[in-house]
Amino acid sequence: MQFIDLAVQQARIKDRIDARIQVVLSHGDYIMGPEVVEFEAMMAEFCGARHVVSCANGTDALELAMMVLGVRNGDAVFCPAFTFAATAEVVPATGATPVMCDIDPTTFNLCPNSLSRAVAHARSIGLRPAVVNAVDLFGLPAEYDAIEAICTEHGMKLIADSAQGFGSTYKGRNSGIIGDIATTSFFPAKPLGCYGDGGAIFTGDDGLAEKLRSLRVHGKGSNKYDNIRIGRNSRLDTLQAAILLEKLAIFADELDRRQVIAARYTTALADMIDTPVVPKGLRSSWAQYTLRSRPGQDRAVLMAALKDADIPTVIYYPRPLHQQTAYVDFPRDPVGLPASEAASAHVFSLPMHPYLDTSDQDRVIDVLRLTLSAEKTG
Ligand SMILES: *Cc1c(COP(=O)(O)O)cnc(C)c1O
Repeated sequence: MQFIDLAVQQARIKDRIDARIQVVLSHGDYIMGPEVVEFEAMMAEFCGARHVVSCANGTDALELAMMVLGVRNGDAVFCPAFTFAATAEVVPATGATPVMCDIDPTTFNLCPNSLSRAVAHARSIGLRPAVVNAVDLFGLPAEYDAIEAICTEHGMKLIADSAQGFGSTYKGRNSGIIGDIATTSFFPAKPLGCYGDGGAIFTGDDGLAEKLRSLRVHGKGSNKYDNIRIGRNSRLDTLQAAILLEKLAIFADELDRRQVIAARYTTALADMIDTPVVPKGLRSSWAQYTLRSRPGQDRAVLMAALKDADIPTVIYYPRPLHQQTAYVDFPRDPVGLPASEAASAHVFSLPMHPYLDTSDQDRVIDVLRLTLSAEKTG
């Protein structure tokens, strides 16, 4: 069994992907070709964003967002500690300081109370609260109503790091139209993945969009050899855009399948172990289906039993950022980050993809239930 099976999806659309690739090979426009323009328009239509600016990967999307918002020395950029490193990694190079916040223990997303404490702390050490990098962890939208209120109160910009959350919905708002800027990743294992690296930036602001289109091509003005700002090279390959066009065409159906699979796991497991919580009005893109062991349950035993049955599981993430070598010295919520530490100690993710078949899923469920009852009696 695969943790994320990309082969079934490929079999479903292989002819169309092959045809798309052939078109690119014949026109030869490998950089910023017509497929890139077509894909950006299709993405905008899918989520309702005014502007979609594709780029080389999800980390660059965040870095370009920092650049276009003018994040600089003395600024504080607030990040949850329980996330992939890229969320905070893009901050120090700007001269700004990442400030680590805790998560909500049930949703695993940025805790608004911790954010408020971290903002006050940042001020007290002479930093200027500038930006919040909220994360849609495992595909679940962050608590945006509360986070937006805090951003407004303190005059901060909001970036929605939706690398895992493209396709999710927060109270009627799609990933891509939340925040001053939203970003996503097309890393192959993300809900909408390509066959290499890719990313995108979303904004409703015409000025930001224009600057982002310049920044991704060396800060170009009217053309590539007229450089009006310091930019970088961060474009989505035409070939990746061609592949993504066919993947996006089936993405809504895949999101529906993910809902069914997630609901099936939850129905079968919720009486025995902590299953993911999706607050009312939210829809996850189910990048991961993540369990948390309860007191008295040993995560290692559960993962080992699944492994013996040839069922892969993964821990996202084994160590929160504030406990990692590169990040230990950055400021954090003065109360500490106990929920992030507890999550790292107790979570593990099950196989999850739109084509997980019922019999495979039943096997995962059976092994887990059996091991959990043995743990209880043993
Ligand atoms: C994957 C991921 C990124 C980075 O995306 P890449 O395309 O791999 O650079 C950023 N933030 C989060 C939360 C991610 O999961």
